[in-house]
Amino acid sequence: MSEAIVSRFNGALFIAGRFVEGSGARMSVKNPARDQVIGEIAGATPDEIEQAVAAARKAFRSWSRVPAKVRAQALHKLGDLIAADAGRMAEIMTMEQGKPLNEAKGEILKLAEACHFYGEEAVRILGEIVPNDQNGFQSQVVREPIGVVGAITPWNYPAELIGWKLCASLAAGCAIIIKPAELTPFTALAIAEKVAEAGIAAGVVNVLTGKGSIVGQALVEHPGVDKIAFTGSSAVGLQIQRSCPSIKRLSLELGGNCPLIITASADLDAAVKGATRRSFRNMGQICIAINRIYVARPIYEVFLENFAKATDALSVGDGLLRPDADVGSMASAEPLAKMREHLADALDKGARLVAGGGAPKGEEFASGFFFRPTIVADCTHAMKVMTEETFGPLVGVAPFDDLAEAVSLANDTPYGLASYVYARDVQEIYRLSADLDFGNVAINNVDAGIMNAPYGGRKQSGIGYEHGREGLLEYFNLKHVRLYHGVGA
Ligand code: NAD
Repeated sequence: MSEAIVSRFNGALFIAGRFVEGSGARMSVKNPARDQVIGEIAGATPDEIEQAVAAARKAFRSWSRVPAKVRAQALHKLGDLIAADAGRMAEIMTMEQGKPLNEAKGEILKLAEACHFYGEEAVRILGEIVPNDQNGFQSQVVREPIGVVGAITPWNYPAELIGWKLCASLAAGCAIIIKPAELTPFTALAIAEKVAEAGIAAGVVNVLTGKGSIVGQALVEHPGVDKIAFTGSSAVGLQIQRSCPSIKRLSLELGGNCPLIITASADLDAAVKGATRRSFRNMGQICIAINRIYVARPIYEVFLENFAKATDALSVGDGLLRPDADVGSMASAEPLAKMREHLADALDKGARLVAGGGAPKGEEFASGFFFRPTIVADCTHAMKVMTEETFGPLVGVAPFDDLAEAVSLANDTPYGLASYVYARDVQEIYRLSADLDFGNVAINNVDAGIMNAPYGGRKQSGIGYEHGREGLLEYFNLKHVRLYHGVGA
């Protein structure tokens, strides 16, 4: 059953409203939990990229003129179709990404939620009439859709990270060409199938599979693509910014190295629960994962003891066989190797292992990229785990003596995506929310991103916003229309 739902998309591209067989070089796609090939994709050729850009440009001309109410209806329909098929779509995601089935289903439902959110926002795109410098004139500021969007996305959240760009594009009246990560192309093609079922006009949404350095780069360089909406590593984000050959709008959602500060006034049980969830969910392969934890010295050892217990209790499993496992397999050998390197580096430099540290034992784990959620304590900023993005189930912990030290350690990073605090003292809360130099600060909870609020990073974590009204406004150009009507002149 599972193999069949994926193999339907073998070698497919979605161009101008149709699935077509790609003619480019084939690349295999694996189920990382079993290190087993589940299908293959075709790398889009220059000719196919041209076809997708031409289809998107043509579709943009009509879609941008479709009334907002009709675009909203299309988004709501798409959301309903995705939610109704969440089980099957989740299976596809688990097969190619490795996260447990229930978690994958949760992600698909979040994609459906994004469709409905932007369906509602589509009818609330307002312009302004601004005061003028002379009587007899009116200055209108109107929002017009940017045009054709190239969406380039990573593998850790194969549906949601496409969804925010897709839904904002559809709401704004843009056309979009999606280039999903090489590891997770089938979720993107399954989304395209829903777009077709929703009756969204041909060419408004296109999916091109293939290598980032070829297909992604071609979109970046193409004069027919007006905006690049990129989520991925800071290194590739920087490369995209530098290699853009023409003036093009860019939004870049990049890497993170996110701190959690736990003060002596914190609710310790809540802090342990939050730390366990946000450090290891999706095997730590989250840009807003907690990577490093600073704990007030008086509660340091008791926190470590409870955090280690909660972490050891997390279940690891093949995401298809054990849908409700807490964590599944990592997505490929590469992030696992990087995580192991960061762990070895920390232990070499004197860190203390307090949980995990190796792969789980048993037949189920024989061939996948599994690792037990791992905690190292007594860490310093000489260790990679505290300063670089690990993107795996490894977290470093260190004590602090006063709040100024905690803030200085937390801000000592080139990244600025998300930060977390557990504290009950109101002055500590105010001070930390003001002093943490991150685009998102979650206090006494670990859900830094919600659909209603803008989500974006500072420093090397990116430019621009997704989510919320601000996430939608990224898909518009402003136009000033200055009209002479003569009344009152
Ligand atoms: P990546 O940067 O390697 O790849 C991301 C996408 O870019 C892929 O589709 C890839 O094919 C494409 N790509 C690669 N080279 C390219 C090039 N030269 N030109 C154009 N496109 C190119 O990232 P990844 O390993 O897939 O994902 C993990 C990274 O994503 C982590 O750093 C993580 O923090 C980041 N991320 C950020 C957010 C956020 O919201 N800030 C969310 C999720 C993931």
